[in-house]
Amino acid sequence: ELFTDLPLSEKTLNAIKDIGYEKMTEVQARTIPPLLAGRDVLGAAKTGSGKTLAFLIPAIETLYSLKFKPRNGTGVIIVSPTRELALQIFGVAKELLKYHHQTFGIVIGGANRRAEADKLVKGVNLLVATPGRLLDHLQNTKGFVFRNLRSLIIDEADRILEIGFEDEMRQIAKVLPSENRQTMLFSATQTTKVEDLARISLRPGPLYIN
Ligand code: AMP
Repeated sequence: ELFTDLPLSEKTLNAIKDIGYEKMTEVQARTIPPLLAGRDVLGAAKTGSGKTLAFLIPAIETLYSLKFKPRNGTGVIIVSPTRELALQIFGVAKELLKYHHQTFGIVIGGANRRAEADKLVKGVNLLVATPGRLLDHLQNTKGFVFRNLRSLIIDEADRILEIGFEDEMRQIAKVLPSENRQTMLFSATQTTKVEDLARISLRPGPLYIN
């Protein structure tokens, strides 16, 4: 199936075309339509399957259709286990947002906390983050607006938990608004800890995609 068959904004379709993709990968074809329809998804997709685009495209469409402005704060948060992976996701998000006006940013352990906080206060519509630094900003950065959160993406949940971020993820799940939120959780393996994290983060009855 082709990206052009999906009900996507012209801006997103043009960005995808510029990157050079036409056909969706299997994971993209199976995941993007239910995500666009608003479902929560629990996916077993691995790196290399094209899952980054699968979760970023619907998230960006949400920001665009709701006309997110900097003052609306963060509408999408992508949690990633490592700085390297976070930077990769950030790079893809930047390309996909090329024709959009929505703002984007990244907060990761080891980076300048103060510079991140300044940017968050100005308004970051799509935020890529590692768990510890995200929780730090959620708790301590005054003026960081996240009450309008619409989409939470937990990528490589098994690795996040292996690294030892279980406690941080619990607290993040507790602090973030869940009312109008769509949640996607991706994990190569389905351990008990992943299931526990899925239970506290996703709405009941998510779509399982393996
Ligand atoms: P990911 O699983 O998201 O890390 O993506 C794996 C690789 O597949 C990346 O190098 C992407 O650039 C590439 N990729 C993702 N979607 C497509 C697509 N629809 N067509 C061709 N390559 C893709």
